[in-house]
Parts: sequence; structure tokens; C-alpha cells
Amino acid sequence: MNLRTIIQKIRNGFNHHEEVPNEAVLGFLRVLESVHEEEASCDEIYAKIDEYVEREVDNKDAAQLMPVIREHLDQCPDCCEEYEALLDVLEKTSKK
Ligand SMILES: [Zn+2]
Repeated sequence: MNLRTIIQKIRNGFNHHEEVPNEAVLGFLRVLESVHEEEASCDEIYAKIDEYVEREVDNKDAAQLMPVIREHLDQCPDCCEEYEALLDVLEKTSKK
């Protein structure tokens, strides 16, 4: 086997390998995108959490108006902790 044949083999192997994962990666990215559309990130929740808590304290309709946040709070302990801390503060201040 000469060097040229070896390079040819590596090249073929590389090309073959490259095409298959690319499709898999594209499919994976599509899945990630669709997941991202449905689920809000912690940053998005943090940006809206005070509004959510205010609604919760005022009208108790926050979960209906912002179901994405309610859903995220159920799944994410970090944001839920933040939510409960804010709720606690707001409830105390609104009673004054
Ligand atoms: Zn979160």
C-alpha cells in the first residue's frame, strides 16, 4: 500500500464520517430549537419573575396569564427559590 492509497482511504473515511454526523447534528439542533421554543430559559424567567409575583399577590391570576413561568417554576428549583423569596417580600410589604 503506498502513501497515496492511504491518504485516499483516510479522505474517503473522513468524508464518509463527516456526512453522517452532519445530518445527525442538524437533526439534533432542530430538536434543541424546538425545545427552546417551548421552554423559557432561566434568564427569561428572571426578567419576568417580579411581574409574575406582583400579579400573584394582586390578582392571583399569574399562573393563567403567564403559564410558561408557572411551568418553569415547577421544574426549576433555582427560579422557584427566587420566586418564593420575592413572593415573601411582596406579601410582607403589601400588608403594611
Ligand atoms: Zn430556571
